[in-house]
Amino acid sequence: MVQGRIHSIESMGLVDGPGIRTVVFLQGCALRCQYCHNPDTWMMDSATCQQMTSEELVRRLCRFKPYYGSEGGVTFSGGEPLLQKDFLLDVLPACRRAGIHTCLDTAGYGVGGYEEILRQTDLVLLDLKHDTREGFQLVTGRQWDETVRFFECLQRSETPVWLRHVVVPGLTDQEEHFEGLRRMIAKIRNVQRIELLPYHTLGVHKYCALGIPYPLEGVPPMEPEKLAEWQERLNGELAERTKSKRTIHSTIKEM
Ligand code: SF4
Repeated sequence: MVQGRIHSIESMGLVDGPGIRTVVFLQGCALRCQYCHNPDTWMMDSATCQQMTSEELVRRLCRFKPYYGSEGGVTFSGGEPLLQKDFLLDVLPACRRAGIHTCLDTAGYGVGGYEEILRQTDLVLLDLKHDTREGFQLVTGRQWDETVRFFECLQRSETPVWLRHVVVPGLTDQEEHFEGLRRMIAKIRNVQRIELLPYHTLGVHKYCALGIPYPLEGVPPMEPEKLAEWQERLNGELAERTKSKRTIHSTIKEM
């Protein structure tokens, strides 16, 4: 039986998807984002991770079900959950059978099986790293071909998407980058929400504890107020998109 490698489980998550959620942080990530605040999830073979089968995990999730209400559920986060393809393909359908709503919080950098994973997922929280090949490599330290493969599957999928993007002073806060991001977002289907997240330094102590040099040493946290204008513009465009989709649907119905 497939065992998931789990870094930790948070039982009352309020920011990783709709409603009250259990957030399951899966171990392992191949990216090395300069602003990552979870470097302790990077190594797949960490001695501190728990191993659990889908059956064991779903049994545990069922205990929290009364808190989920009509909106909540489970979010698989990380690390990068897509690295544990076989576990996801086992646990996502098991959650569905148990009536638990599922979110996948991902940067789209896994090991394939994306179409089937997306079919089994109720909501994707996609962490967009950058809109260009060079920018992606600068932010994550890796090539972007794998994430493009996931992106292409997402474009063909019916699964709703919430987009997230971390804005870092001097790295992803330029107007040119914002324009590229807008163009990229316009290509993604089923976008329901866009969240710009200000860079913060809360995870720095983990780098010290792990003895890893912190790549953004000296970079100040992003002031949330500076993001307000970008967020407003993206929200406006998303509202327009949703409105024109509704108009098309009602026109089709009237025909
Ligand atoms: S994808 Fe997430 S977990 Fe992986 S390095 Fe980037 S921020 Fe960290």
